[in-house]
Amino acid sequence: MGILLPQRTEFYEEVPISTFVVKVASRCNLKCSYCYMYEHPDQTWQEQPNFFDSEMIHILATRLKEYANSRQLKQLLVIAHGGEPLLLGAKKLREFFSIIKDSLQEVETDVGFGLQTNGILVNDDIIDVLQEFDVRAGVSIDGPPEWHDRMRVDHKGNGSFNQVMKGVEKLRNPNNGKSVFGGFLTVANPEIPAQELLSFFINLNTTSMDFLLPDYNFDTFPFDRYPVGTFGRWLSELFDCWLESKTDMEIRKFKTFMKLLMGGKRGYDAIGAFSHGVVVIETDGTYHALDVLKTSYHGATQTGMSLRDHPIKELEKLPLVMALSAKRFSVDQKCLDCRLFDVCGGGYLPHRYSEAKGFNQESLYCQDLMILIDHISSRLSNEL
Ligand code: SF4
Repeated sequence: MGILLPQRTEFYEEVPISTFVVKVASRCNLKCSYCYMYEHPDQTWQEQPNFFDSEMIHILATRLKEYANSRQLKQLLVIAHGGEPLLLGAKKLREFFSIIKDSLQEVETDVGFGLQTNGILVNDDIIDVLQEFDVRAGVSIDGPPEWHDRMRVDHKGNGSFNQVMKGVEKLRNPNNGKSVFGGFLTVANPEIPAQELLSFFINLNTTSMDFLLPDYNFDTFPFDRYPVGTFGRWLSELFDCWLESKTDMEIRKFKTFMKLLMGGKRGYDAIGAFSHGVVVIETDGTYHALDVLKTSYHGATQTGMSLRDHPIKELEKLPLVMALSAKRFSVDQKCLDCRLFDVCGGGYLPHRYSEAKGFNQESLYCQDLMILIDHISSRLSNEL
């Protein structure tokens, strides 16, 4: 892996890890055609146990406490992820959140919980658990049914839109108590008219969402279908529609670019020169780098380290972990010299991969990012 990733030792910086993505289930009840877990070169999920078990929950809770204490962390975020995390069931999910919360209380670190789901398995017992631990559930959806159902299908190929929306409704309007809905994650699709897509989400009354650039790399991107700049122009149009709608729905990508353009320092893993550290923990308790790197090659996320044998602090030294937080450490010279680097951060690491060059190049979305960032910048100058 070392040769695939540029390593600029002058920018070496051990950034505290504050986000822990825990694969509580390694399988999924859907079979989305673009899924980075199952439909790409990395197939390590096949070797993983189906679930994160009780023993692992206890070891994780102890490791988090030890790390929070050593780093004097005031806060950290634990995201229950998969596969589909709700396959774990309400009883085990309660155990997961409760043991971690109790452990971190002993060192006075606030723990925030999140969960990313396809929404299909939401029921009253799950809602009770999410309410009890103040967990916001983010739901993945790709827009109106005629678009969503093309890619987000079950194992028989049937679209999932109606089932997903039933789950969203339960999260937003539970039989008892407050909403536990956290917002939508949507894969950007320039084939959907920008205004139509934005109106769809505004009509769902969501307060926050994000549009993710599709997880292609240089070897897999369909350049014929999407000429260079397609995503940048489409996202710029979406930005204009969003600004002009005066909606209070927050779009994380746009909000973060605006913040960085106005001098903010920290973005997130896909945006900006700095981000909070993030690691992934698989169901067998092994530590991994960002899961979307599974689109690169088999074994791309492996660190060779595990909850059982290694304190979390040791992960801060790993180039693959640093590459997502102190981004100067591992970008191509072209990005380092780029006028937009502080805002862009070189693009999302998985989008910089090709078999020929590893991660030694700019993002495959470089032109798109330039178009979008320049567009937001010029709109901000005109508005201010
Ligand atoms: S816009 Fe392109 S060259 Fe500039 S930092 Fe981003 S990916 Fe690198």
